[in-house]
Amino acid sequence: MQWIEKILKKNDARRTAYWTAVIVSLSLFILGLIIAALLSRSIAMQNQKDFEVKTTQQLTSIKSNIQFRFQMYGQLLASSAALFSIKKEVSHAEWRELYDKIRVSQEYPSLLGVGYVTTLKSEETGAFEQRMRDEREDEITAHPLAPARDMYTAITYLEPNDTVNQKAIGYDMYSEPTRRYAMELARDTASPVLSGPVRLVQDEVEGGSQYMGILEYYPVYNTKSVPSTVAERQAHLLGFVYLVVRPGDIMHRYVSTTNDLDQQTVALYDTSTNNTETVLYESQSLGNMNGYTTSTQDFAVNNRWWRVELRSKDTLINTIVAPSVILGFGALLAAAAAAIGYRLSLRRLGSVEERYAEQVQQTKEELLALASHQLRTPASGVKQYLGILTSGMFGELTQEQAAIARKAYDANERQIHIVNELLYVSKVDTGQLRMEFDTVDLVEMTEKVVEQVSEMARTKDIQITLKAPSAVEVVGDDRYLPMVIENMLTNAVKYSYMSSKVEVEVRDDEDSARVIVKDYGVGIPKEDISRIFLKFDRIHNPLSHVEGGSGLGLFLALQLAEAHSGTIEVHSRPEKGSTFTLLLPKNSRVDNVGDDDRTYSER
Ligand code: ADP
Repeated sequence: MQWIEKILKKNDARRTAYWTAVIVSLSLFILGLIIAALLSRSIAMQNQKDFEVKTTQQLTSIKSNIQFRFQMYGQLLASSAALFSIKKEVSHAEWRELYDKIRVSQEYPSLLGVGYVTTLKSEETGAFEQRMRDEREDEITAHPLAPARDMYTAITYLEPNDTVNQKAIGYDMYSEPTRRYAMELARDTASPVLSGPVRLVQDEVEGGSQYMGILEYYPVYNTKSVPSTVAERQAHLLGFVYLVVRPGDIMHRYVSTTNDLDQQTVALYDTSTNNTETVLYESQSLGNMNGYTTSTQDFAVNNRWWRVELRSKDTLINTIVAPSVILGFGALLAAAAAAIGYRLSLRRLGSVEERYAEQVQQTKEELLALASHQLRTPASGVKQYLGILTSGMFGELTQEQAAIARKAYDANERQIHIVNELLYVSKVDTGQLRMEFDTVDLVEMTEKVVEQVSEMARTKDIQITLKAPSAVEVVGDDRYLPMVIENMLTNAVKYSYMSSKVEVEVRDDEDSARVIVKDYGVGIPKEDISRIFLKFDRIHNPLSHVEGGSGLGLFLALQLAEAHSGTIEVHSRPEKGSTFTLLLPKNSRVDNVGDDDRTYSER
């Protein structure tokens, strides 16, 4: 029966369909995840690029703003210096007038002051102080005077002339190296020059600004035009116009009016000297900078190098679309695609499987029909020919011939039995087994079967005993119910050793009627009991190779018992024997007697 087994195994198509759907959906999910990961990566890279472009724009904007301001300051200084090259002597009033005219405080609000520095030989300091006193009604001294030196550069005017700026008047800027360096450079190059960061004299009071100051100088010579050589410039130097500014003020103004600088800190450094950074401005004190990305830009302001630095919170990089959001969303989509893919493939494969199952079913039916009908006819023919032969119609058979004919007859009987079983299985499979119920006497039925099987039992010297009450009535089909009992009884004989016994008992219990068939044969191992009711399953035992069989008997028996709302129970121990019990309900009514429509289908 291997051909049938093969076809039936193909019923594994259900499992294949399931796994195919699982693989399809998993592949979709993984593919979706990969796409989401790639997308999120490319978005992260795009965000990074956008971020870099944005910070470069910010840095450039700050740089341009600063450079533009200092160009304006240079221009302011140059035009102020022009006053001196024309007048040589400029009074405090004139300076103030100039300051007001150019509207310095309105046009250059970041400036702390614009001033003039006079160069003085040591012997001229007294006259300078006298002039100051005359002009201001105030005690002004050139300072510091010690240590004594050849030349002093005293601050002469500084507008606006407020109390803070007044503190600076008379201060010799040459006395401090950073200022002096810038002044000498301005003198020699005849151009506006910025000093390095300095602590302003104005800030040397309690509560002075935290920001460093810088000064921008522009030289004034006592010649009509700018002297051409450095030596001439040094010889003709009259003084400097200069301005005071705190880069921090410029930056503060810029930062406080720029919205873009959320979640960012800005710092400005002077990096001109030995590559050291001197802080000019920091928008907030920078503690732990973990989770920040730093971008910088170096740029020249007049003669100095400054560096602007932006530190941005890393979260800022992903403010537009966070890659993790994309990844999460992508994973969700992938899962949804996988679920849909799973359902669709299951449905698609399900229909393929259904068609396949239909085909298998059809093939099975065709094969079973072929087996049952095509095999049954010639098998029955053989039976008839054997009947003619043994009847003596063509002469008496010798003892040997009769024995051979008997064997052929038995073999033919078994063949017909198997063909019949196939026929019934085919009917069970196709739901064509129709039951016709009636009240039947189980005792009478069992007696007949016992009588039938006793003949076969005698060949093995097996005695079948029957213990039963006079009658037990149940509802059943008297064509199929005896088949169940016969199967149990033939099995008991088949799987018993020679000269054994088989005990049959019919019992009329309260809740059920029972036919119990007990043998003392080979028995069944515990682990095999669940298999004996399966279609085509034969369990190998010491007698199975001598006793033929199809593995269909118990399958059919159980189907038929269940069609009677009953069941079959088994108790067995290897080499001790088995007990098969057919249980039938006792309280079924005979509603459906003659009801041809009651069809039993395979469960
Ligand atoms: P088979 O045609 O092989 O007898 P069955 O479906 O009737 O097919 O039984 C299935 C298997 O159950 C048998 O091959 C046999 O191994 C086992 N079996 C059935 N009845 C008995 C029994 N009374 N004692 C031992 N084994 C049994």
